[in-house]
Amino acid sequence: MSRGAAGAGTRRLMSLDEYVRKRDFTRTKEPRGRERARPSALYVIQKHRASHLHYDFRLEAEGVLRSWSVPKGPSLDPAVKRLAMAVEDHPVEYGSFEGTIPEGEYGGGTVMLWDTGTWELEPGLAWRDALRTGRLRFTLHGRKLRGVWNLTRMRDRQWLLIKSRDQHASQDDVTLTKPRSVKSRRLLAGIARAHGGDVAKAATGDPARR
Ligand code: MN
Repeated sequence: MSRGAAGAGTRRLMSLDEYVRKRDFTRTKEPRGRERARPSALYVIQKHRASHLHYDFRLEAEGVLRSWSVPKGPSLDPAVKRLAMAVEDHPVEYGSFEGTIPEGEYGGGTVMLWDTGTWELEPGLAWRDALRTGRLRFTLHGRKLRGVWNLTRMRDRQWLLIKSRDQHASQDDVTLTKPRSVKSRRLLAGIARAHGGDVAKAATGDPARR
């Protein structure tokens, strides 16, 4: 959309100018490179029915997936603050995982790829600084979640996930209106069935049938 293009244009003026200015690409075999029109860092949410239902929110940074466990999942309503517990980093490859984890193993249960896309830190913020101060502000380019979001650290591992006010804010409960996998279109019960998991347990994480 035009907003995204304008944002990319702003960044294009800043980030690689010096790199390009210092090199004659008719002489060096170094890559000319270019700022990507869209960011390539992975964003993913995995809905996970383990001992408790939660949504694993992950942002690719520095070669791993930084991860937070969000018990109630994301809210599109800027007035709603959702607890997000920082958990261990995961490998980037984990970001495509959907299936079952054997009962008795860590995280045993059913994992759904609930949303995926890319993300970018707010222009002017540095990742390390933002982590240290506990104020992450970023834009999501997901299939379900879009626009500006915030992760704000309260204390220790406790953060809050909060939507910013923009055209993607909404009163709709996205966890209920969009409960299916972006990978398989299945609900949790369907994923458990397809992967030999506990279907009845997984189904408790799906919206109640009406
Ligand atoms: Mn989990």
